[in-house]
Amino acid sequence: MSIKNTVGWPLKFSRKSLKTINAHVTAFRTYLNNRVTKNIPKQPNETDISNIQTTSMNEAIDIRELEYKKAPINWIPAAILIATPIAAVIITPWYLMTHQVSAPVWGVFGAFMVWTGMSITAGYHRLLSHRAYKAHPIVRNFLLLGATFAVQGSAFDWASSHRDHHRYVDDPFGDPYSVKRGFFFSHMGWMLRNYPSRKMDFKNIPDLTKDKILQIQHKYYGLWVLVTNVGLVAALGWLLGDVWGSLVIVGLLRLVLTHHFTFFINSFCHMFGSRPYTDTNSGRDNFFLAIFTWGEGYHNYHHFFQYDYRNGVKWWQYDPTKWLIAGLSKVGLTTELRTVDDTTIKHAEVRMQFKQAQQKINTAMSAGLDISHTMKIFQDRINFEHDAFMQTVAEWQALKAQKIEMKKNQYSERLHEIDDKFKQEYTRIEEKILEHNSNLKMIFRPIG
Ligand SMILES: [Zn+2]
Ligand SMILES: [Zn+2]
Repeated sequence: MSIKNTVGWPLKFSRKSLKTINAHVTAFRTYLNNRVTKNIPKQPNETDISNIQTTSMNEAIDIRELEYKKAPINWIPAAILIATPIAAVIITPWYLMTHQVSAPVWGVFGAFMVWTGMSITAGYHRLLSHRAYKAHPIVRNFLLLGATFAVQGSAFDWASSHRDHHRYVDDPFGDPYSVKRGFFFSHMGWMLRNYPSRKMDFKNIPDLTKDKILQIQHKYYGLWVLVTNVGLVAALGWLLGDVWGSLVIVGLLRLVLTHHFTFFINSFCHMFGSRPYTDTNSGRDNFFLAIFTWGEGYHNYHHFFQYDYRNGVKWWQYDPTKWLIAGLSKVGLTTELRTVDDTTIKHAEVRMQFKQAQQKINTAMSAGLDISHTMKIFQDRINFEHDAFMQTVAEWQALKAQKIEMKKNQYSERLHEIDDKFKQEYTRIEEKILEHNSNLKMIFRPIG
C-alpha cells in the first residue's frame, strides 16, 4: 500500500483517472443489473446464497469506495485549508523577524485564541451539537460569533457532521471524519472533497434548523467570516496602530492554530491515549491534547458519555471549557448542565479495568510464556473479583429501580438513604479493584 493510500491523501486523482473510475462504476452497475434480470437455471443451495450475499456486499463496498475516490473537490474550503497553514509558516516567522509586534496585538491574539477556540468547544460542540447545557442568548450569540470567526463551517455544517461522527464513529462510510481512513483524512482531508459521508441534508439537526439566528448564520456565513476575520481584525489593528501586525498575528496565525487544535481532536484523539471507559470506539483520553484543545482531549470519556457538559470529568482534569460552562452557571448565564452520575462513570471504568486485565492475561498466554500456574491463580482471582463486581452491579440496578419507584411515589426524604447505601457499595468495589490492580502489577512484574 502506498504512503498516499495510508494517509488517505484526498487530492490524488487526475481528470483521466476520474474518467477511468467512472467507467468502472458504470461497468459494475451494468453487471449488477444484468445479474438481477438474468434467469438462474437451478435453485441455489445455502452455500451458493451465502457466497452470492458476500460477493454482492463486496461489490457494494467497492462501488461505495469508488464513489469516495471520485468525490469532487470542495474548492473553497480546500483552498483555505491548504493556503492558510502554508502562508502562516512562511509569513509569520518573516514578519516577526522584520517587524516589532506590540504587546497589545499579542494581547488581542491571546484573547481571540481563547474566544474562538472555546466558541467551538463550548458553543458548536457542547452547546449546539450535544445540547449538554442551555445558554443565555448573550452567551449563545457570543459563542456563535466566535465560532464563525474560527472558520470551521456554519453551525449547521459543524453540528450535523459531528452528530454523524458520534452516531457512526469509526465507520469509514458513515463517520464523516473516520480515523479508519487514515490520520490525514480524519485531521483535515475529509473537508477537502465532498465525500458521500458528509450529508448536507441536516436531517439530524431539526432542533437547530428551526433556529432563526442559526439560519441567518448559515445563509450569510461567508460574509460573516470576512467581517470577523478581515474587518474586525483590521479594525482592531487600526485602533492599536498596527493593521498588518494584527492581520498576520490575530488574523492568520490565530486562525491556523485554532483550526489545527480542533482538528487534533478528530485525528490524534482517535489514535493516541488511554481508553479508561470503553474500547468500543477509537476515541482516546489524552492530557497533552486537552491542553491544546481547551479540555476536549478526554475524548474516550466524551464518546461514551457524549451528553455530559464535561469532557475531563474528574475535578482535577484540565478542561477549561467545563470550567467556563460551570462558571457561567454560577451567574445564571448557563443552565441545565447535563452530567452523568458518578456511579455510572465508575461502573464503566471498573468494567474496563476487568476487560483490560483479561486482555493482558490472554496476551501473556498467547505469547507462550511459561506462566500458566501463576496465570491460573490470577485468572481465578479475577473471576472471583468479577463475580463480586457483577453482584454489586445487580444491587445497583435494583437500587436504581427502587429509586425510580420511590421518586414516583414522592418519598423524597428516603432518596438520601439509597444514595448513601450505594456510595458505600461503590467504595467497597473501588477498594477491591485497586487491590486487584496492585496484585496484577505484582504478578506481572517478574515476567515483564
Ligand atoms: Zn471523536
Ligand atoms: Zn462530541
